[in-house]
Amino acid sequence: MSDTTTLRALMEADRWVERVIAQRNHLPEMAELITLEEELRSLVASLKQAQVDQAPIQKKYSELQDGAEKLRKRSHDIQAKLDSSTANARELGALQTEIEHVRELLSKAEDLELEAFLELEPLDQSVENIKAAAQPKMERRAELQAQIVSLQATLDEEIISLRSSRQECAVQVPSELLKTYETAHKRVGISGAAQVDNGRCDGCRIELSPLDFDRWKAQPQDTFMACPECGRLLLP
Ligand SMILES: [Zn+2]
Repeated sequence: MSDTTTLRALMEADRWVERVIAQRNHLPEMAELITLEEELRSLVASLKQAQVDQAPIQKKYSELQDGAEKLRKRSHDIQAKLDSSTANARELGALQTEIEHVRELLSKAEDLELEAFLELEPLDQSVENIKAAAQPKMERRAELQAQIVSLQATLDEEIISLRSSRQECAVQVPSELLKTYETAHKRVGISGAAQVDNGRCDGCRIELSPLDFDRWKAQPQDTFMACPECGRLLLP
């Protein structure tokens, strides 16, 4: 095999490794997860605000409910006394006045209770709406997290296997040439060689100057000039 062939195989093996690493680190599921988490953070903030708005009205409503309930019980107790009373007319009159007073208070209390309820209802609803909106997103988040773990595990295995094939390609390259390749690879990443495609280095995408292009074309077979821009060995 010519040096060009082995060098090209090594370059392609390195490019494969990089491609799979890029795929592993930029899964569409990861992008979706990031968007989803932003949405969830914003929902959590809305929920907190809705609960802050809800809390004082909830407290007021609950106090009004207690107050009305006490009056209801008081009214019921007096009525029971009136129904079973053996009291005299004066006492009965007093109880009658009292029950009327309590009923009046109860009626006002019930009005306030209803007002507070009507005030509270949309606030409760908005808390519920936010929770309902978050629910499927939470489920999707768990799903995506699991998918990412599983996909990355698969790709990690593939990367290990590709790296081992890459090593097999590397041992085919003569050692001096390999050293030059590895130096360029280490410095610029992805691969230590590139192909000239339409007068451009396909590693850095920079067009060779006419002078460099002529120099590259004039190279004897199996000699490799470095790209003047990125330093990768230029393959035909
Ligand atoms: Zn280049």
